[in-house]
Amino acid sequence: MKLFSIFGNPVSHSRSPLMHNSVFKGLKYNACYTRTHLEDGTKLKETFFTLGLNGANVTVPHKEEAYKACDEVRGFAKKIGVVNTLINENGRLIGYNTDADGFIYAIEEFKNIKKVLILGAGGTAKALASRFIEENMDVTVLNRSEGRLSYFEELGCTTYSWNDFTLSNYDLVVNSTSAGLKDEYFPAPKEMIETIFDNTSYVADAIYGKVTPFLQLAKEKNIVYKDGADMLLGQGILANELFVEGMLQKDDIKKYMQKSFEL
Ligand code: NDP
Repeated sequence: MKLFSIFGNPVSHSRSPLMHNSVFKGLKYNACYTRTHLEDGTKLKETFFTLGLNGANVTVPHKEEAYKACDEVRGFAKKIGVVNTLINENGRLIGYNTDADGFIYAIEEFKNIKKVLILGAGGTAKALASRFIEENMDVTVLNRSEGRLSYFEELGCTTYSWNDFTLSNYDLVVNSTSAGLKDEYFPAPKEMIETIFDNTSYVADAIYGKVTPFLQLAKEKNIVYKDGADMLLGQGILANELFVEGMLQKDDIKKYMQKSFEL
């Protein structure tokens, strides 16, 4: 039997085990997917091999550490230095990133997105900003602290910290911070978010499974919004395709993964 897991801190909220196990069970693929709470990201590789895993997903806050842990990084992950999917290829750890394409899948129904504001400057923000730039979108990044912004400046984004933010109009505002994940914080001061919302068409949150204060405010202002569930589904389908090495059809994976959201 093949073994998979998700590494994170926190990780108890993760729906990934349900999603992947629903595919394995539904399609009679002999594999099991668990969750692993990991405090120290530098122990990722050691823990992966000690557990005898064939593959894994990595969530907050270890995605950049996962990149460092890999023997080889492929595709989009290489461009952004952020890994959310790990494969054991003959004892070598191979890293991929499926988050950004998962997000593009999630916002397909939002039309005419040309100008995006990303809140946060972590691993998810890097993936989204790089992918949006590839789509020729105009990208602005607003983060709590300045330290992580240089990456985004080099990418061609407009960048602000809370101290120097200047308001503009946006088609889409995305919360890619972990504010609201295990607390009730806004990703930026509430008054700032309110003025941003008064100047945007769509709102999306990478967090799923709860209505964050950020999404609650979007709801109160009657803005079309979505939480991170579709992004989760998109990245999950792409990760599962890597896990099963072409043995299952993408449409079947999608069908059974979607079923797990009905549970
Ligand atoms: P990182 O740890 O890499 O980055 C976290 C970012 O959040 C940093 O920019 C940090 O700012 C900011 N931040 C943290 N706390 C606060 C706060 N209280 N107020 C304002 N900013 C804050 O995280 P990831 O990029 O890996 O993940 C971010 C979120 O996206 C998580 O909630 C994760 O669950 C979610 N996610 C969802 C996915 C899905 O499929 N739906 C996929 C991937 C991620 P600073 O630099 O100042 O510390």
